[in-house]
Amino acid sequence: MSEHLLVIDAGTTSTRAMLFDRAGKLAGSAQAEIGQHFPRPGWVEHDPQEIWQASLNCARRVLGNRRPESIAAIGITNQRETVVAWDRTTLNPLARAIVWQDRRTADRCRDLRERGEEEAVFGETGLLLDPYFSATKMRWMIDHVPEVRAAAEAGRLAFGTIESWLVAKLSGGDHVSDASNASRTQLLPLGKAGFSQDLCDLFGVPHAALPRVVDTHGQLAVTDTELFGRAIPICGLVGDQQAATIGQGCLSEGETKATYGTGAFILANHGTAIPHSEHRLLSTVLTQSGGERTYAIEGSVFVAGSLIQWLRDSLGLIENAAESEALARSIEDSGEVVIVPALAGLGAPHWRADARGLISGLSFASGRAQIVRAALESMACQTNDLATAFAADGARWESLRIDGGMSANDWLAQDIADILGIAVERPQFVETTALGAAVAAATGIGWYATLAEAAEAMRGAIDRFEPTMDADTRKERLDRWAKALAAA
Ligand code: ADP
Repeated sequence: MSEHLLVIDAGTTSTRAMLFDRAGKLAGSAQAEIGQHFPRPGWVEHDPQEIWQASLNCARRVLGNRRPESIAAIGITNQRETVVAWDRTTLNPLARAIVWQDRRTADRCRDLRERGEEEAVFGETGLLLDPYFSATKMRWMIDHVPEVRAAAEAGRLAFGTIESWLVAKLSGGDHVSDASNASRTQLLPLGKAGFSQDLCDLFGVPHAALPRVVDTHGQLAVTDTELFGRAIPICGLVGDQQAATIGQGCLSEGETKATYGTGAFILANHGTAIPHSEHRLLSTVLTQSGGERTYAIEGSVFVAGSLIQWLRDSLGLIENAAESEALARSIEDSGEVVIVPALAGLGAPHWRADARGLISGLSFASGRAQIVRAALESMACQTNDLATAFAADGARWESLRIDGGMSANDWLAQDIADILGIAVERPQFVETTALGAAVAAATGIGWYATLAEAAEAMRGAIDRFEPTMDADTRKERLDRWAKALAAA
């Protein structure tokens, strides 16, 4: 009997393969690091062949001696926006993948912005003009890599994001991309089934090189029989942040998740209506089934866990990240110390690349504990600014479901609940991204009728943090934050 789902989580720094059962319980896991290439400042590349081999090896390791019949379906989740170019006849990569973090196309984006293209592109795709997204990376490859250009001219070029590349290799040549990943290329109008010829013309990307856009869950492809000894159906394909949203069970309008890792990514379910942000939040496809989509509004904060790393590595105030919790608890309040963590500018909803961080309110009473506590407090304040922007765009948060490395900090979870004035929920199983791909595959193979039903059955136990802070304290905190923010 088929009892497990195989999930491939192809992340930025590592690739993992995991096995889940019907109840969402983890039955095995294997991991491999992915080499990071930095050929010039601001450039970040991966080796597509390495990503494929690492994914295959991890999958084989985690399967071990299990019979291939015991795997009902495969789900894939992945780092988004990263572009792979391959030859569709040989399935060999034509260049290193250009990774989402890569800034090499910043000038191209500025040109397009100066030509007044941003509003129309934002209106159609929900994305601002930024090197982050795939379209300008694809054009860069055609302009600068002779092999990519030659393949384009010969009609052999295939472009895809990481899930698309993995499906091509797993299936022996299918060229598809799921709608959640496709919506991060900046070539997919949120309301149209496939990539837009007009957007392809604007960015200089050949439409013929792009994959067919498919659902996030359903019968999407099957593996080549030779790989695992059986043709296993691929039934879930979801970009990492959307997968975490699914894994957190945010499947009704208004339900919101926040992932606190190096930075923080917040997605709010917007239901079946296409969001149009007035506050420079991004709009994205969350799920697609039978061609029907649900959408999400997305906002990110550049500096979250990296601030704690900075306290540890640059200032030496703490020995490890977990120590921040004990220090924050050791005092009543931060003694008016406020940190604005704009160490890399400010992301949504401020979008001030020129802003810089600051520590305000220092006195002789301020010590290590006050500064560390202020650093943690800035997470709730940044999140609250996003909550305000989301609400102004019509996406009021009912509660907030958190995950990511930082969410292990109970003091932080309580502080977010207090400042936002809503319940904060944290699953005991924190691998929500992989779980989301498992939920998608479980629905796609028909174990459950809907994603919501699957998520309900597979999510597991949850810790809840209810707001307890009194209104005056909260107002004082937020007033001090607003003042410091204005100074940054
Ligand atoms: P990423 O996926 O972006 O690599 P993770 O989700 O693994 O990040 O989270 C790691 C981050 O969380 C680190 O920046 C670390 O400083 C922070 N972190 C981990 N544990 C804690 C903690 N108990 N309190 C505060 N921050 C923490």
